[in-house]
Amino acid sequence: MTGSSPEYRPGAYREAAAHSLRETPMVRDSVGSATRTFDSLRAHAYADVESDRWRDWARDVKGHALTHLDQYLEQAERSLVRNGVHVHWAATAEDVHRVIAKVVETHGVRTVVKSKSMLSEELDVNAHLESLGVRPVETDLGEYIIQLLDEPPSHIVGPAIHRSLDDCRVLFHERLGTPLDSEPDELAAAARAALREDFLSADLGISGGNFLAADTGTVALIENEGNIRLTTSVPRVHVALVGIEKVVPRFEDLAGLLQLTARAATGQPIGLFVSLIQGPRTGDEVDGPEEVHVVLVDNGRTTLFEDDVAWEALRCVRCGACLNICPVYRQTGGHAYGWTYSGPIGAIISPGLLGLDRALPLPHASSLCGACTDVCPVRIPIPELLIHWRERTVDEGRNSTAERLGMKAYAGLAERPGAFSAAASALRWTPWRAAGRALPVLSGWVQERDAPSPSPRSFRDLWREGIE
Ligand code: SF4
Repeated sequence: MTGSSPEYRPGAYREAAAHSLRETPMVRDSVGSATRTFDSLRAHAYADVESDRWRDWARDVKGHALTHLDQYLEQAERSLVRNGVHVHWAATAEDVHRVIAKVVETHGVRTVVKSKSMLSEELDVNAHLESLGVRPVETDLGEYIIQLLDEPPSHIVGPAIHRSLDDCRVLFHERLGTPLDSEPDELAAAARAALREDFLSADLGISGGNFLAADTGTVALIENEGNIRLTTSVPRVHVALVGIEKVVPRFEDLAGLLQLTARAATGQPIGLFVSLIQGPRTGDEVDGPEEVHVVLVDNGRTTLFEDDVAWEALRCVRCGACLNICPVYRQTGGHAYGWTYSGPIGAIISPGLLGLDRALPLPHASSLCGACTDVCPVRIPIPELLIHWRERTVDEGRNSTAERLGMKAYAGLAERPGAFSAAASALRWTPWRAAGRALPVLSGWVQERDAPSPSPRSFRDLWREGIE
């Protein structure tokens, strides 16, 4: 984000998307290239398994857990406590901040190492830590890059995919002193060397949690860099921030869900590291934290769950596959969506977590092509949820005046065959491009594309000819 960038908030989507299209073509190049690679790896990884059955199973496991959420969360709490974990319930971001502040105060924390957690982004944890005088250090390479750049993530799995290799070369040259022609593995090695000091000196590690098994109280985390393993095992204290929708019934469910998530996210059979956090270090263990806290975070999730249609978004495993295949996301990148979650999942979950008033116009940031649902490993019917939020927009009178008047005019014509026919004839002779520029309601369309001319013969003409 540059100083001239539009505001970073969902309500500024239209301006931000237009800015991205016009002013930052390099973002489109970087995002397009990375997402095409992710997507082809996913397709390859799905090809050698019975993905339909597997996805049905994952949908059912997550759906069952969500429809019995109270039962499994209470069971998870009992299991965690039995394992020696401190459990906290957080209804809001402020509740999470209070838990973190208490841990920071109790242990005199000065530096925190963090693994990638979209939930911590959602909760503004870094800003909160800084307000406490604590230095947060992102240890995932992509998160490390955007922290140096002071930017929000632009993708769930690859937070820095909007940046090119050359951007990173310049950044690392300026901040870490690496040569400007460094290769990617040399840049990664420089980041690792810088982070090693932080891992060793940090008093607290903060992670997210991909899944939480209720029967054993196991927090499961998947990754490729080894930084989560270090974040959760080197510092004296570990805090895991886990959304309440991450609970699953059984430890046995983890194997299938972790593998499916990895295949959908990066096309790997499984991430290079899987950490199963069972509690603090016990007497005979040589490493691991002395104290583990799990914060079960609501922050709007139960409100979303009460929506009979939109609740299905809570099945999301944050694999990013829907972003990678989305033609809209590929054009604009993630910052245009103005919040933690971008792409198709952002367009359906942000209205639920933030409220429709703050999230508009995200449900309209889609052509409804359905490609996202085809790749979703837990079969979230994303287009249906987008339409649901659009209907709610209309029902609550939040759609624009131009749209309301336009639809009213259309309804009036559609009820009068003679008037409809006359209007259709008039439209066939309308110079579309000029009309688009003149009419505010159409100008957005014709700025980016030529409107197709209507067919000289209408459906009614063809129908009549067919009958005669
Ligand atoms: S909606 Fe589906 S495809 Fe998109 S991030 Fe969530 S689980 Fe992955």
